[in-house]
Amino acid sequence: MHVRRLALVPLLLSVACDRQTGSQPPKTTDPATSTTTAGPPPLQRPTMVARDPIGAGVLAAVDTNVDPCTDFYRYACGGWMRKTKLPDDKPRYGRGFGELADRNNAVLRKILEDAAAMKGKQGPVDAKLGTFWTACMDETAVDKAGIAPLVPVLSQVTAVKDEASLMRVVGKLHASFFGGGGPLFGLYVEPDSKRPDVYVAQAGQGGTGLPDRDFYLKTDPQSKGLLTAYEQHVARMLGFLGETPEGATAQASKIVAFETELAKIALPRADLRDPEKTYNLLGVAGLEALDAKTPWPVYFEALGYKKIGLDLNIATPTYFSQLGEVVRKTEIPTLQAYLRWTILRTAAPALSKEIVEADFKFTSALTGAKQLSPRWERCVLLANYGLGELVGQAFVKERFAGDSKEVALTMIGHVEAAFEAGLPALSWMDPTTRTRAIEKMKALTNKIGYPEKWRDYGKLKLSKKDHLANVIAGRRFQFAHEADRISKPVDKAEWHMPPAIVNAYYNPLVNEMVFPAGILQPPYFSADFPMAMNFGGIGMVMGHELTHGFDDSGRKFDAKGVLREWWEPAASAKFDERAQCVEKLYDGVEVLPGVKLNGKLTLGENIADFGGIKAAFAGYKLWQTDKREAELIQGLNGDQLFFLGFAQGWCTHETDESQRLRATIDSHSPPRERVNLPLSHFPGFWDAWQCQAGTPMHSANACEVW
Ligand SMILES: [Zn+2]
Repeated sequence: MHVRRLALVPLLLSVACDRQTGSQPPKTTDPATSTTTAGPPPLQRPTMVARDPIGAGVLAAVDTNVDPCTDFYRYACGGWMRKTKLPDDKPRYGRGFGELADRNNAVLRKILEDAAAMKGKQGPVDAKLGTFWTACMDETAVDKAGIAPLVPVLSQVTAVKDEASLMRVVGKLHASFFGGGGPLFGLYVEPDSKRPDVYVAQAGQGGTGLPDRDFYLKTDPQSKGLLTAYEQHVARMLGFLGETPEGATAQASKIVAFETELAKIALPRADLRDPEKTYNLLGVAGLEALDAKTPWPVYFEALGYKKIGLDLNIATPTYFSQLGEVVRKTEIPTLQAYLRWTILRTAAPALSKEIVEADFKFTSALTGAKQLSPRWERCVLLANYGLGELVGQAFVKERFAGDSKEVALTMIGHVEAAFEAGLPALSWMDPTTRTRAIEKMKALTNKIGYPEKWRDYGKLKLSKKDHLANVIAGRRFQFAHEADRISKPVDKAEWHMPPAIVNAYYNPLVNEMVFPAGILQPPYFSADFPMAMNFGGIGMVMGHELTHGFDDSGRKFDAKGVLREWWEPAASAKFDERAQCVEKLYDGVEVLPGVKLNGKLTLGENIADFGGIKAAFAGYKLWQTDKREAELIQGLNGDQLFFLGFAQGWCTHETDESQRLRATIDSHSPPRERVNLPLSHFPGFWDAWQCQAGTPMHSANACEVW
């Protein structure tokens, strides 16, 4: 699912296409940094022997033939990479964000199956889950219905005759079918960055079928080939709506040309990370002023929210000042075809088998996934995202018992204390800014496991017989839930991720970190793990999320989540200098021949990775001052286990296609870089693994921000 919100910073991006995949042999890695000189010969390390099954699991993932000071990721993960195959239905599969997700999904499947089979006490929660599951799993009924359930939605498009009727239809569809996103642009709801106690509507660029403007605008053979494949795909899919092959081909060409015009007026993805640039509380009148010809009141009335008034932020004003012109120079039949296509591609995964498969064929070209995930898994994902706090209730009962929350809170306390203790050592920060930074850290709140109050899904009506109707109802329900709150106080208790997901986030507008129960599991966390492993695993995630409050974007929000300047100018300038070091470092990374990372796009995540490992390690050392734990693996000390535990949460197989795609759309660096780059710049790691200057894992010019 694409991360729609501008402000939330998740630990990783889950791409909608994540349900697909491809297989690939473990790649041979190049050294992590540019400092590759012939250093001293590798140290002779003692043979490691596991003391119990947890230790055996750690050792089994290691490749002892690799020198940890040459490529720590490969050393920590090589054994796992050899034994694990990339499943055919996944573009990317990791020891954490793959194997753990599989285990969580199996639990969810059982919950949903039991609910549908009316096992046990059948309360309203089970009834709703059972209804959703029954309809989703009934592939025969979905196939039999074909395109029919979509016809009432598609038929609305015929009302488009001019710009006013277009805006009316788009407004109606945004609310009733797309749930905010969709054709032409996106409309969603978030706290106001300068008054984070109040929700405002947010309008942002969007409306394209490919996941980034680059895919329309780049002229290298790879990009051009993909755009051609997309156009063919659009034509093939339009065939399902009854178009003749000639008609479909002609329409596809015009649709892609129109989407290319939208891409041309869109800002580069990296710019959307800038909270100041994307803050323009212009209101509806301000939006009208950007382009006087577009009848915006018609849109907002059809959307069902005509009283938004001033409470509208325009994330990308330059997009909206040009959108009307792009629309006006496009013929009405093309706009209609574009709307039909946007509806079809959005609904495709919930339609009949032949449409799902045709849709997957293009997803496969984009992600490298070789086959479609089993239906049950697709239904589990839909339930997890759409009914997350219903299916999450049974999930946490099963998977998040005992003292997990207490242990996690203790760890957060140590990581935060260590972060604070490290601030005086940062020579670039003046005392005033430092005091305010400490205030911000102390004001930060944490959510662990699952919400204190479960969400009410009472208004969501589901059917046992119509899967597509359920999917649409879910989107409409979510949109109304958000939009009904425009201009109203912010619900700070709300969670923006389901409890059963393997992910975490920092929300700068609430100044909070959120760790769902789904990630508080092995290999990141277990109440049975030695604390060295927990601090390397989930502790690093805690340090990472904490650092997001102080990355190039998060640092612009104060302790209360208000977007305002609270830094002394000199500290701000020095921060930017330090951040530049990180940006340049990742700009230099080539993930595949000719495919480079975008240092600006990934800067916030990389700063969080650098700061996260440092805060987590210091937190571990702090925890150790009054506690010692028994050696888990003979020949490996606690510090070494900390770094091994960290790296092994990121062991990943990935298709080339997926790596290429993510280099463009993902604000996170690839797993290998997420491990090797922060470690090769961190003295604590050099000491623990005795990586001498001159080895690839010991950078000569270490970057440090936090
Ligand atoms: Zn992050």
